[in-house]
Amino acid sequence: MSEGAAKKEDRRKFQAIRGTRDLLPPETALWNRVEQTAHEVFYTFGFAEIRVPIFEPTELFARAVGSDTDIVSKEMFSFTDPANVIKTLVQDALQAGLGVDVKNIDHAFQSSSEEKVQFISLRPEATASVCRAYIEHGMQQLPQPVKLYYTGPMFRRERPQKGRYRQFYQIGAEVLGGSDAPAIDAEVIEMVMTFFDRLELQGVQLDINSIGCRDCRPKYVELLRAELLKVKDKLGPDSQRRIETNPLRVLDSKLESEQGIIATLPHIADHLCEDCAKHYAEVKHQLQLRGVMYRENWRLVRGLDYYMRTTFEITAQGLGSQNAVCGGGRYDGLVELLGGPPTKGIGFAIGEDRLILSLQESGKAPAPQGRDVYIAWMGERAHATAVRAAKDLRKAGFSVELPPVEQKFGKALGQADKLGARFALILGDNEVASGEWTLKTLADGSQQKLTESQLLDFLRKL
Ligand code: ATP
Ligand code: MG
Repeated sequence: MSEGAAKKEDRRKFQAIRGTRDLLPPETALWNRVEQTAHEVFYTFGFAEIRVPIFEPTELFARAVGSDTDIVSKEMFSFTDPANVIKTLVQDALQAGLGVDVKNIDHAFQSSSEEKVQFISLRPEATASVCRAYIEHGMQQLPQPVKLYYTGPMFRRERPQKGRYRQFYQIGAEVLGGSDAPAIDAEVIEMVMTFFDRLELQGVQLDINSIGCRDCRPKYVELLRAELLKVKDKLGPDSQRRIETNPLRVLDSKLESEQGIIATLPHIADHLCEDCAKHYAEVKHQLQLRGVMYRENWRLVRGLDYYMRTTFEITAQGLGSQNAVCGGGRYDGLVELLGGPPTKGIGFAIGEDRLILSLQESGKAPAPQGRDVYIAWMGERAHATAVRAAKDLRKAGFSVELPPVEQKFGKALGQADKLGARFALILGDNEVASGEWTLKTLADGSQQKLTESQLLDFLRKL
């Protein structure tokens, strides 16, 4: 094999890992627009941005999300921190009065208890981290509730398919502390719907449900389990297993053969305690006040353990079976579960990848943006003028392409066309001498003569 061929082989060897992908221009412009819109809309609802780490102790997610959930039991990317392992071992050795040399570390490695080694996971979601940060920074001292939002990548080892990736992006928000007034639930939902509306997302459908609280849910779960046991033979293996581990998740089943049976199961709405029933009724009233259209879906349960009372999911068009773009709900016990004070909480997470897919499918993606001005220059003096013109135009906010080496005008104009430039600014000896520059509109080929200040005025007025 020649050296050239070997290099080519090498180049093909590196590919993005399955379930991860590169986001490229022009699509990244849409990602930026979506995130910018989130910043703007969430700001108007009084939310401020939080940025939390991408990895945390595995224990945080095990505790918050629940070790029985698919996310924690199968989908996390976890590893040990080697530096931390060594540190733990060194501490162990010193404590045992062994002193630290390679032999002792080796010995410590063998005798060290595993639980001291820190296990770390890439975050599969961010609510646990936001609650951890709320506790760690004593945010309960701030005026309540604290309203935070985040954007960023999450990681889950799932089977990759359209709308399902191993690195994906979420935009989420949390309201922590203060009361659990139903108006808070409704306002959080109103905020997501306003965001989707601003993006002109198509086919938006909001489903809501209440899954009760620590008092009434266990009773309903028992009832559900008893009913499910009666029809166990007719259920698939996944649902059969869930009768024991998490009967609520059976309601989530998409299996065709189970739908008839599920339709006959008791509804949680009929088994809520008085407080939960009142809360749910008031959430619906508050949504109506805000003009937010919803559908009650008694089968809507959330995959994470920490949810209670209000749960919601939003679907959009063009996504096939992965059509959920947002999931959310109330999680009043979570902060306490993580070692903080009793704290109310509600939040949501939007799947940004799916949101973008849906916008693209419905043609809501903006057309790719070319350069505003391509500067075609020839000659030493024209180059100096071109550099200055580029600086001024950029300062005024225009996108400018300044070719680094001299090109014949014909070639430069061809290049401007390929880049989708709107105008070509032609600078040759004549233009520099007269101070009258030539601006060519590439769409129709028309040309005009302008001084530098006329040029800026002209472009600004467009
Ligand atoms: P699904 O039922 O689609 O698996 P989920 O219940 O696991 O979703 P949540 O944990 O509630 O999802 O996350 C909120 C949102 O994040 C989802 O509605 C979805 O839009 C998005 N999401 C979740 N997992 C992925 C993934 N692997 N790839 C892309 N987006 C995802
Ligand atoms: Mg999932």
